[in-house]
Amino acid sequence: MPPNTRQASRLRTPERGPARALPRPRPSALFGTDIWIIAAAYVACVFGLWAWHGGVSALTSNWLDGWLSLSQLSGLLASACGLFGVVLIARPRTLERHLGLDKMFVWHRYLGESMAALLAVHIVSAVIAGTADGTGLWAVIRNYTGRQPYMAMATVGGLLIFVVTITSLKSIRRQMSYETWYFVHLTAYVALAVSFGHEIVLGNDFADDKVARWFWVALHVGVLAAVLSGRWGRTIMSVLRPLRVESVVPLGADISAITLGGPGLSRLEAHGGQFCMLRPLRLGLWWQSHPFSLSAAPTTRGLRFTIKDRGDASGVINSLKVGTRVAVEGPYGVATPDVAVGSKVLCIVGGVGVAPARAMLELLTPDQQPIVLYRARSKEDLVHLDEMQQIAKSLHGEVLTLVGPSVSLAVKDPFSGDSLTRAIPDVAERTVFVCGPDSLVHAARRGLKAAGVPTENVHFEMVWW
Ligand SMILES: Cc1cc2nc3c(=O)[nH]c(=O)nc-3n(C[C@H](O)[C@H](O)[C@H](O)COP(=O)(O)OP(=O)(O)OC[C@H]3O[C@@H](n4cnc5c(N)ncnc54)[C@H](O)[C@@H]3O)c2cc1C
Repeated sequence: MPPNTRQASRLRTPERGPARALPRPRPSALFGTDIWIIAAAYVACVFGLWAWHGGVSALTSNWLDGWLSLSQLSGLLASACGLFGVVLIARPRTLERHLGLDKMFVWHRYLGESMAALLAVHIVSAVIAGTADGTGLWAVIRNYTGRQPYMAMATVGGLLIFVVTITSLKSIRRQMSYETWYFVHLTAYVALAVSFGHEIVLGNDFADDKVARWFWVALHVGVLAAVLSGRWGRTIMSVLRPLRVESVVPLGADISAITLGGPGLSRLEAHGGQFCMLRPLRLGLWWQSHPFSLSAAPTTRGLRFTIKDRGDASGVINSLKVGTRVAVEGPYGVATPDVAVGSKVLCIVGGVGVAPARAMLELLTPDQQPIVLYRARSKEDLVHLDEMQQIAKSLHGEVLTLVGPSVSLAVKDPFSGDSLTRAIPDVAERTVFVCGPDSLVHAARRGLKAAGVPTENVHFEMVWW
């Protein structure tokens, strides 16, 4: 028995009596079109502000006013994108229940990229406008970086956004640790805050229009409140009411099943297929949280996660002592059995991506005849196989395994449309969950499309980092 093995007898059972399912997360209050209506109204407000203050006529009147107007519009839109991006990162519950955290983070990225592009337009058009009356470029730059009120702070904000944008480019990001990137990324909040002053006192959108000014201030206060209550409030709550490690069961050389429980469970609503952010409250790790999927249906007995040692944090989490406090945020995610009600199910999983599929399997019904296509590099990597085979069999389904390096497989592309249709003839009628590394998700989505599975029936977590 490996030295870090904790035996069942040493594990504390959190609750006597039968395990009860935790309440499921309440559905979102938003409907499909609501988000688009809100987004359209928001953009209309920003354009309306600009047009109300003469932006449209200025754009076509003369060289100077045209560039000033463009600078004004791009500045407003850049701030608007930034604010909307911050709202997404504040993770409002109803929005998360509607979109899923992965989509919110991806939209956050698009908004961040748009903000950076608009900021570039804002700066360039402001400089061109500044030189339009014959002022030298150097003098204009000095005006815009300090001489005009609040411009020194706005310059700092612009530089921070530049750094955040550069470090978010995939090629650069990949060379940094997640935590380094994350803390650099946090400076975007500072950038938005220090840029606020110049928005209010310069230009003609807010300086001379009291109503517009209060609208803009209220928007910022609302976003700040969303961040404080949603993002930070939830983190504080999770730290104040942590769960405790109930057991750590090694499943292989570098993979363990860890169960968290305790009174803090009573505040949670959770469903199979979701994931949580885990923050072990111990020296060296309390400042970082990592996403892990539930690997069993969540009950009053605890939350189980199956964790592969992929680096510092996952390695430490796998060797946490029983009783260690862990702050749990979430759960998040909308790829749950709810989206497959009344339909047969297929789960395509790779490696530790098996976790959410294992949790969902427990919550399916016999009419869903679940099939799990389980890809792993070696037999040792096939964790939870026996459990899944038993559950699948009881639901008139099965688990198909694909083990070994890609070159050793009988078919060149096991996820091609043809291979999928041959292995699962009714694949096109199934709701499909894909969980695993990016390469598997891409290959499976391509193959499922070729096999005729409608895109809306394919569910997966989008890569957000
Ligand atoms: C939605 C989701 C569900 C996941 N479920 C599981 C699971 O059930 N079991 C499991 O073993 N792993 C799961 N992972 C992966 C797990 O989060 C990473 O392996 C873990 O964060 C690695 O951290 P580390 O410090 O050990 O390794 P590092 O060496 O720091 O990171 C390894 C890689 O993990 C990713 N990563 C690191 N930190 C984060 C973070 N905070 N947020 C997002 N990605 C990060 C990065 O791509 C990084 O390259 C999941 C990831 C996501 C996004």
